[in-house]
Amino acid sequence: MAVDASLDARIREWEERLAASANSHPPFTLTPAWWQERLLHWATNDPDFRVKLLRFVDVLPTLRSARSIADHVRQYFRDSAPGIFHTASGLASQPVFRPVLSRVVRRGVFSMAQRFIAGESPEAAVSALRELARDGVACTVDLLGEETLSDVEADAYLGRYTELLETLSANAEAISPLGEQWSSVPVVNISIKLSALCAHLEPAAPEYVSATARERLRPLLRLAMRQGAFINFDVEQYRHKELVQRTFAEVITEAEFTDFPHVGIVVQAYLRDALEDLGRLKNLAQQRGAPFSVRLVKGAYWDEERIVAAQNSWPVPVLERKEETDASFERCTEALLAAWPHLRPAFGSHNPRSVAQAMVKARNAGRQIPDIEFQMLYGMAEGLRNAVAAAGYRTRVYVPVGRVIPGMAYLVRRLLENTSNQAWFNVGVTISSIAEASPPNEGRRRQEPAFRNAPPAQFFEPDIREKMSASLARARRGFGTTYPLLVGDRRLSDRASSEVRYPAEPATIVGHVAQAAPGDVDAAVTAAREAFWHWRDLPGYERADILNRAARLMEHARFDLAATMVFESAKPWYEADGDVCEAIDYLRYYAAEGERLSEPQPLGDTPGEHNEYFHESRGVTAVIAPWNFPLAIITGMSVGALAGGNTAILKPAAQSPIIAYRLLEILRDAGVPHGAVQYLPGPGSEIGRALVQHPGVDNIAFTGSSAVGLGIIESAARTSPGQRNVKRVVAEMGGKNAIIIDDDADLDQAVSGVLVSAFGYAGQKCSACSRLIIVGSAYEEALERLKNAVASLVVGLPDDPATFVPPVISAEARDKICGYVESGRMQATMLVQADISHLNTSRARDAAYYVAPTVFTDVPLDSPLAQEEIFGPVLSVFRAVDFEEALEIALDSRFALTGGVFSRNPRHIDLARVAFRTGNLYINRKITGAIVGRQPFGGLAMSGAGEKAGGPDYVRQFMQARVVSENTMRRGFAPEDGA
Ligand code: NAD
Repeated sequence: MAVDASLDARIREWEERLAASANSHPPFTLTPAWWQERLLHWATNDPDFRVKLLRFVDVLPTLRSARSIADHVRQYFRDSAPGIFHTASGLASQPVFRPVLSRVVRRGVFSMAQRFIAGESPEAAVSALRELARDGVACTVDLLGEETLSDVEADAYLGRYTELLETLSANAEAISPLGEQWSSVPVVNISIKLSALCAHLEPAAPEYVSATARERLRPLLRLAMRQGAFINFDVEQYRHKELVQRTFAEVITEAEFTDFPHVGIVVQAYLRDALEDLGRLKNLAQQRGAPFSVRLVKGAYWDEERIVAAQNSWPVPVLERKEETDASFERCTEALLAAWPHLRPAFGSHNPRSVAQAMVKARNAGRQIPDIEFQMLYGMAEGLRNAVAAAGYRTRVYVPVGRVIPGMAYLVRRLLENTSNQAWFNVGVTISSIAEASPPNEGRRRQEPAFRNAPPAQFFEPDIREKMSASLARARRGFGTTYPLLVGDRRLSDRASSEVRYPAEPATIVGHVAQAAPGDVDAAVTAAREAFWHWRDLPGYERADILNRAARLMEHARFDLAATMVFESAKPWYEADGDVCEAIDYLRYYAAEGERLSEPQPLGDTPGEHNEYFHESRGVTAVIAPWNFPLAIITGMSVGALAGGNTAILKPAAQSPIIAYRLLEILRDAGVPHGAVQYLPGPGSEIGRALVQHPGVDNIAFTGSSAVGLGIIESAARTSPGQRNVKRVVAEMGGKNAIIIDDDADLDQAVSGVLVSAFGYAGQKCSACSRLIIVGSAYEEALERLKNAVASLVVGLPDDPATFVPPVISAEARDKICGYVESGRMQATMLVQADISHLNTSRARDAAYYVAPTVFTDVPLDSPLAQEEIFGPVLSVFRAVDFEEALEIALDSRFALTGGVFSRNPRHIDLARVAFRTGNLYINRKITGAIVGRQPFGGLAMSGAGEKAGGPDYVRQFMQARVVSENTMRRGFAPEDGA
């Protein structure tokens, strides 16, 4: 960085001065006991203990009894914890010590929280703010709270912000520091979060989010204007950044606010695009014609950003080394100062160097002391803060206010920061030590995996949204096309056709699809048999090459494919995109598996013989697919078969034949011979059945309902004349999946996990949650939050990116689901039904197929609601006395596909691992959205008979093992290696 020598000398001088003050004061003091200091010392030096401590602090406030606290202490700190914790863990197992132990622990953690949280309510925080003012320091107050999951909660937040503004204004004099530097800025200053004011923060829908949030922002801004207060917009996770920036830009340029200068927004220097953010904000201020403030910080979500990026195979949006962030902070400082007078700078940092360079560079840029502001967090870096204030600079403290339970996330973040070797704040950090610091985690870099999942579309990027919108427009232009059968080399259009309609506008015909006649089945099987020998005998790597090429073609066409599913299957944007990603993953994963399995393996090392074990394809595969993952599942089944050297005849579901046609095109374009992959849409009971019964079919890959699947298994077991092979059936079937919310669960996480699992894609997933079991004391609160959240779900058009719940697939599905809802009204209590009266909800055949998300309680355990797969947005809730009873209820089903547990009790999690026997068990996350290679998917019991899709055993099902043994001894002599 080009910093001239005299500037640099002045920065160093200030840095040393500030660092000396910072060092004279502990970085942050914990009272009352010495052990809290020790605690952080241990946590800094022992990563395993750090995780346990953070998790324990996180769960503690939700523990409602001494017994429960003692139980958690015992479980968290039983093994490998520092001595005192080990002892506490020992004491916890003895009932006599429990009350005192739980009191000590609770008090300890709560007093730790009080270091960072100024009070439970604005009123309670005033005395802390007054004390700050006496030290010459002002505040910006942040409200801690639960994650906003419903409109009711967003309104409550607005109410709390309003109360905060009013309380601070009433106490303005008391919380006002003295000094000339404060004369031009409001003393009342609050920091707000967009996530508090909008329940559905959908990154793909910035217009919707901005419109919803602005409804709540306007009254707040009006109040701030009346009271001369300041409102700062915090920025949280990267994926929501554009939402905040856009909402901010749109609201402050509304006519009534366009001159209001007392607003501000955060820029996070750890982001790779921080400088662009500043540029955009400068333009905004210029266009608006009135300045606003920018608080430059380093950023508080560093760990989360890296984890989310890794989980989604996205580029990491943050700079990965602390010193890179420090350097970015300095570059952003210069850009921010250069944006004067449009942007008013505030610098949020605990690092003496970062503060020093801002002071010196500001002076160098002609700014006077009152032009700039420094901000620090409450309870941290008090020495530095006092030094900055003593130098006459406006110094403001970011003060969180709220109850400790919902404030835990904040406390954990602060503890993370203070116990990290990479802490942003590190007393004594100097320029030289920054330069020498080693990159984090070096030597612990993760190995590049051989297989990488396709990254989901980053709909928070505007250009990605534009691509999707363009594809939707293209798809609309293609409405009404006729799709032929693809049998061998022939394209057959001269058959009766069936219409595919857009479920949100059934009058719109998406396409016409030729329907196979029984004679076509025979022709397709004959072509498949003819193509088989060539495809089988290709080396595994050649088949893999072709399938990998298909993956690239699919990647290239990803938005067009997603758009097809939006209209054909009413998939909302993110669901359609997820479907494409899964299909791409199957292509790559199974290509690699097919190649691996085709390699012969030598067996044993006995001299004089050579044994070889290898897999070979079985023959012709009938692929009979459902409509609900219209691309992913049919791709998975077809490619599983093809990768193993089989030929495939695809019979898509009647509701989703068009996307299957696109898959055919891609596979053939990639080089799969025409006879090896054919397209045979038609009625399941006719064409599906004929394929199942055909003597020339060797494998049947089926995914669909249990009723149809069991019928296929039975029918495939009968041999017919001319049949040469015993048919192998892979059948993936239905589910009736349960989630348990334990009494110590994080309800923010649990309720939002249930919402996504139960109502995503209108509940039309085999993995969807349709039973929710809540344990003991969590029941009332979880139910209340769920009720409000369901009432706030955004139901609407699939092509609208804001939509969370789309219409269901067909009029028949709608009527069937509504039948369950009607019977539920008689047998159970309806807790909530979302209001969808703004949509066309008539039951006419040509009315859109919407079904209102509905939740029932008091559901009899043996009722159809509790036992049958409904396949729609209907959830039944049960109450359990304890975790063991919850497990019993969860397991009371003939299905066993997915299950979920939200708990922070290690014993319950261990118990669930063993006893919650479902094909896929998910802990502390949603139960839908399995990812190829990471969560191979498939059920037990009546949910499935087959190996897991997206796992290492899947392709093998379409193959048979052969062994060739050769006697290599001739006249008593054999080569040494047996070959
Ligand atoms: P479905 O059983 O009605 O139809 C599935 C396929 O079978 C369709 O292609 C259909 O035409 C065909 N078919 C129907 N009758 C047939 C017959 N007699 N012989 C041969 N084929 C016949 O299922 P659906 O409504 O398309 O899909 C929803 C069901 O699929 C749900 O039960 C869901 O749980 C299940 N599903 C399971 C998984 C899983 O991995 N376990 C994944 C997705 C869907």
